[in-house]
Amino acid sequence: MPRQCAYRQEGGGPCRAAPLRDSQFCLMHSPEHAKEVQEARRLGGLRRKREAAVTGAYEFEGLNTVDGIRRLIEVAVLDTLGMENSISRNRTLAYLAQVAMRTLEVGDLESRLAALEERLNHNR
Ligand SMILES: [Zn+2]
Repeated sequence: MPRQCAYRQEGGGPCRAAPLRDSQFCLMHSPEHAKEVQEARRLGGLRRKREAAVTGAYEFEGLNTVDGIRRLIEVAVLDTLGMENSISRNRTLAYLAQVAMRTLEVGDLESRLAALEERLNHNR
């Protein structure tokens, strides 16, 4: 049987994590590592707060939809446009335009495919 952390949850249930070598507790419950765990939690909390603030400020909802990816490209384009004119700024804009073009194509294909699927389902 695999070793289990000796910590008991508030309801009395066991912590199912594996204990550290030479300890009866897992990392999260080991008294010797309490400081590190607390610091890691604090940093995790700060990162999540910052992530939420940045996400809100840019109205960015992640990279898992075509709209989200478009929004990211839009933000990059606006920031780049706001910079002083230079060859590298223009190169960046040209590159972002290419990426945007590709994203438009994928978005277009996605909606045409959805329309086709809808029609197929109707005819069944
Ligand atoms: Zn534990």
